[in-house]
Amino acid sequence: MQVDLLDTPIEYLKGIGPKRGKILRDELNISTYYDLLHYFPFRHVDKSKFYKINEIQSDNVYIQLKAKVIKTETIGVGRKMRLVVTVEDDTGSIELIWFAGIRWVKDKFKINSEWVIFGKPTYFKGVYNIAHPEMEPVSEFSLINIDPLQPIYYTSEKMKQHGLGTKQLAKLTKTLIDQVYAVIGENLNKDIINRYKFLSRRDSLKEIHYPKNERNLDKAKESLIFEELFFLQLNILSYKHQRSVSIKGFTFSVVGDNFNYFYSNLLPFKLTNAQKRVIKEIRADMRSGKQMNRLLQGDVGSGKTLVALMCMLIAVDNNFQSCLMAPTEILANQHYNTISKMLGDMNINVGLLTGSSTASERKKLHEELQDGSLHIIIGTHALIEDIVQFKNLGFVVIDEQHRFGVEQRAKLWKKSITPPHVLVMTATPIPRTLAMTLYGDLDVSVIDELPPGRLPIKTIAAFEKDRQKVFRFVKKNIDEKRQAYIVYPIIEESETLDLRSLYEEFENIKQIFPSPKYSIDMLHGKMKPAEKDEAMLKFKNGETDIMVATTVVEVGVDVPNANIMVIENAERFGLSQLHQLRGRVGRGKYQSYCILISDYSKLSSEGRTRIQTMVNSNDGFEIADVDLRLRGPGDLEGTAQSGILELKIANLVRDERMLVVAKNEADRVLLYENGLNNPENINILKHFLLLKKKQKSFSQIS
Ligand code: ADP
Ligand code: MG
Repeated sequence: MQVDLLDTPIEYLKGIGPKRGKILRDELNISTYYDLLHYFPFRHVDKSKFYKINEIQSDNVYIQLKAKVIKTETIGVGRKMRLVVTVEDDTGSIELIWFAGIRWVKDKFKINSEWVIFGKPTYFKGVYNIAHPEMEPVSEFSLINIDPLQPIYYTSEKMKQHGLGTKQLAKLTKTLIDQVYAVIGENLNKDIINRYKFLSRRDSLKEIHYPKNERNLDKAKESLIFEELFFLQLNILSYKHQRSVSIKGFTFSVVGDNFNYFYSNLLPFKLTNAQKRVIKEIRADMRSGKQMNRLLQGDVGSGKTLVALMCMLIAVDNNFQSCLMAPTEILANQHYNTISKMLGDMNINVGLLTGSSTASERKKLHEELQDGSLHIIIGTHALIEDIVQFKNLGFVVIDEQHRFGVEQRAKLWKKSITPPHVLVMTATPIPRTLAMTLYGDLDVSVIDELPPGRLPIKTIAAFEKDRQKVFRFVKKNIDEKRQAYIVYPIIEESETLDLRSLYEEFENIKQIFPSPKYSIDMLHGKMKPAEKDEAMLKFKNGETDIMVATTVVEVGVDVPNANIMVIENAERFGLSQLHQLRGRVGRGKYQSYCILISDYSKLSSEGRTRIQTMVNSNDGFEIADVDLRLRGPGDLEGTAQSGILELKIANLVRDERMLVVAKNEADRVLLYENGLNNPENINILKHFLLLKKKQKSFSQIS
């Protein structure tokens, strides 16, 4: 009864009991034997090695010393009190410091007593010290039979105070492994284990905690990382396989008059090769008889809207309706205007539905959608409402898809009994590893080429002292008939945040750029939709020189004449946000500039890296990669539903190659005869079902 033993509540393990059991639950979410077994050490330390005090050269590694206490003293009072114990060996001395739990340790360190000290040195004011080291009397240390590589676990301060430091955890995992080793079964099939020479699962789990040597540790890690990524992929791909088996799609068999007429007579420019390739990919999907579910990635300004339009024309040619949903009214309006204009004299009926549409406009739209006379509808979330019904919705485009929730997207495609083809578009490039995980169930097309003639945007890091220069530069460009955006992180002044705010700075900008010579306007999230539209329209028509804005201009806005983007408090923005904002310029034939203003003295090293990355690169994918490295995948859009956050040992950045391997193997398992129901895959199926039960996120993917 293997499952039962591993499901034993953690309290029952020798050395734990109710009190520590509760702490393990509260602090680490460990409540069963299984959980503790899967609480992996974050590193190992070679306990057979001792450092000399004068060998300490880095504050990044854990070290072990053997030294004698020569002085103890408590410094400060109350909450500031700390205990400083000075120890020495034959090469020098070092201070050990305790900030908490002083009364427990204070009397242990008698002068001249000898200790084995284990911890991570900190460099402070020119010397090294070690805070809260683990201490063991030399006499006791030499008596224990220790494994050479000792596991180091993360523990909290509270855990340490209740006898659950890394050392005690190590003892507990050891007890546990001895007890459960025999019942640990495989989660993979024989074929995979043999081909990759993975360790058995019980050995992986044993060696990850207590490796015999470095090589075994690496093997254990490899096996466990594979397993984790394999099940992550299996989960995603199983949805895709299910769908391709069970869902039929509309067959768009013709490319007809509308597409051809537009292509030959109305296309305002030559398509880029990337646009052509992507249209072909989409077109192949649409005629395959299967429902298309495709992600279109393309950097800002790469011309995704046109691709969407041409695919909508294919839908019209096949007598189906299309809808295009955008996250903001500004953007929906912009799409409506561009598309209506591009379609010129063609006999295609295009409608616009947003929160600002009047009752009578809505009524007319609803009717035309139902009788089929409206071919293309463009809009915002308003499109999702139940009252919006189509005669025959065949194609759905979702622009800036990361702005929508899973359910919102799903609602749209439920508006047709046979699900329509779906194209979701994003300008937030996602590194390959993440795309495979987040969108493993989507096919991906990439526009990896910008329209010709675009000059790369020049990005400049500026600081407080440069502000006058920056504004002179903006002035010069406006005098040459260009336009500028100036973006602030917040709308109103805040007492807690020392940031420039839009309202405050608007007044300053007005003084620097006085009317009537210059015309300035603002755009932010607290304005009414109609006000935003008006402001945007005036800017687009060139009536406004400077748009003072918040990040509402972030997505999609297309004003080719604007060539300067100034971002204040640039350090406050994430990389993908900076890249999106920068993408508002560089859309026309003029040299464009993105100026990132920050306060140098307040820049964190991460903030500096972000700004430096922007200055160095215009490539959205490269930027997304750095972003992923800086923040980890947890902060990126969509990760919450994906199970990525629950990864215990794999790392999407570091383990990219393994992820590809895992994906291929998951694919093979599913494609094989009977897939998961093949008796060979019984272990896989069992564990998969267990994960689905355990991890909420495993059942949430759309
Ligand atoms: P995004 O991919 O960011 O949504 P848009 O679709 O808004 O980009 O296109 C950006 C700009 O590039 C628009 O002004 C559009 O008219 C223009 N554009 C699109 N395709 C081409 C092309 N093949 N050649 C020249 N300009 C193009
Ligand atoms: Mg766009």
